[in-house]
Amino acid sequence: MVDLTKKEYVVVIQCDIVKQRCPGYLCEKAFHERSGGFSEYPKEKACRVIYMTCSGCCGRAVHRKLTLLKRSLKKKENIDKDKIVVQLSSCMTKDNYHAPPCPHLDYIKTLIERVGIDCLEDTEINPKSEEKRKEGLYTN
Ligand code: SF4
Ligand code: SF4
Repeated sequence: MVDLTKKEYVVVIQCDIVKQRCPGYLCEKAFHERSGGFSEYPKEKACRVIYMTCSGCCGRAVHRKLTLLKRSLKKKENIDKDKIVVQLSSCMTKDNYHAPPCPHLDYIKTLIERVGIDCLEDTEINPKSEEKRKEGLYTN
């Protein structure tokens, strides 16, 4: 169980392929509103956020990016890794309009675990996609 009251820095990781078209607005909106995958984040607490993509299949660059970010945050602002949380975008984690979930999802989660940063799933939750999930048209 991730204690979100202790988190100060959110890293939203998004699908690089989807981001070739998507500006990421709905992820940003969900974070701003603390809705969807961010609904458990304390509303009253200010929190830094950075958005990045996986850099393309198979997502291996996530390890390098997070390692450098973790080092920089510690060195420049003394922000410890325990205060950081990764949030994987819904276009990676969910069956949706774009495609089924990322085929490398488990691999990417393993990379994040190896960097030692907590990882949560989902950002924007689309109501129409939720309906399709309930109807069984989308698998998750
Ligand atoms: S979850 Fe939606 S808004 Fe966020 S990057 Fe993916 S497609 Fe774009
Ligand atoms: S590894 Fe997954 S999240 Fe990254 S570009 Fe490929 S399909 Fe998208």
